[in-house]
Amino acid sequence: MSKILVIDDRHRNLTSVRATLEDAIPDCLVIDAHSGKEGIELAGQKQPDVILLDVLMPEMDGYEVCKRLKTNDKTRHIHVILISAYETGTKNKVKGFSAGADAFLIRPIEKAELAAQITSMLRISHTEQQLKEALTKAEEAERLKSAFLATMSHEFRTPLNAIIGFSALLNEETPAIEMAAYGKTIHDNGHILLKLVEDLFDITLIETGDIKLKHEAVNIHSIVNEALEVAGQEKIMERKKHLAVKFNPGHAASELPLYSDQSRLKQILVNLIKNAVKFTANGMVEIGYKKEAWTGKQYVTFYVKDTGIGIAREHYDLIFEPFRQVDDTYSRPFQGAGVGLFISKKLAALLGGELWVESVPGNGSTFFLTLPLTSGPESKGSSQEDLSYSRRKIS
Ligand code: ADP
Repeated sequence: MSKILVIDDRHRNLTSVRATLEDAIPDCLVIDAHSGKEGIELAGQKQPDVILLDVLMPEMDGYEVCKRLKTNDKTRHIHVILISAYETGTKNKVKGFSAGADAFLIRPIEKAELAAQITSMLRISHTEQQLKEALTKAEEAERLKSAFLATMSHEFRTPLNAIIGFSALLNEETPAIEMAAYGKTIHDNGHILLKLVEDLFDITLIETGDIKLKHEAVNIHSIVNEALEVAGQEKIMERKKHLAVKFNPGHAASELPLYSDQSRLKQILVNLIKNAVKFTANGMVEIGYKKEAWTGKQYVTFYVKDTGIGIAREHYDLIFEPFRQVDDTYSRPFQGAGVGLFISKKLAALLGGELWVESVPGNGSTFFLTLPLTSGPESKGSSQEDLSYSRRKIS
């Protein structure tokens, strides 16, 4: 809806301009201001697209109001049309344009001319808005591209260096026990590289909309067990054998008729579990699921809970953005490209569900994944809107 602010000290003028605008411009909101001072205040608060400003007003005339609007960061972008009450000479028009006005009209104004002038200003204003948004997007894309290249070269270089360095140590004289250890390091780092390439491929599929999802009967119990096996391997990789990993099935898996994509569901859970192990030094990681119902629909909610470093509330959104990490310095103690949660959240949405976090910094985090339960393979589950209710209820 277009917003137009009319600043005029005379009530009669306000009423007639309002009537003309409401008649000529569909879907517009007209705001009245009875003095220059009130107009400046309302312009800052309501951010209209166009201001129609009377020149002759007591206390502060239209030229002064225009000057103040155009020198204020909050209002300088708003288009101002000055309206003079009588035949105005070139000198006054120049004065108006010097004050920053975008157009000058003289009373009596034909209704059609006023409407045409406003429509043209609105068109310019909307085009400027679109340009501004496109510029912001381009700047953000440029920033992300640089961050992506920096992160990627760092993430590729670390395992590659390990592979090159350890393979250089292998020769005929290397004792068998060391050979086995170096071989394992090379193998593990090869997997890290492979995972990175797979993640990048997933991001491309998600961005281009080419991801193909299955809709198959899911054995929740075995999926969770497979994800737990990965947690065991991760504990070894992260040298955290002391970390307890618990499984808490809130319902028998047979009570949960889930039709989804098994491997993508496992991918999300594995991402969450790996993060839980990575960001927890001591204590435990717990994974569980339970059945829930809202507004007549049934859901399964998985959770992965840890007693790790936690996440501040102001970072809740950031961590689901691509290549973003709470600590994005090069000297950070944790490895990772910052894409796992981005991919997981996108996959959750594609599966008709939702992924979110609740956390207390210093005490740990819990990630929740809610998916709609379906009565059979035909039904594709609930919509995203239904789930926003479930999320509110849990949090
Ligand atoms: P990565 O782990 O590769 O950095 P993710 O997308 O999986 O990428 O996670 C993004 C960021 O979210 C992490 O870098 C970390 O800052 C934060 N994060 C994710 N999981 C946890 C967790 N369980 N505890 C604390 N912080 C977490």
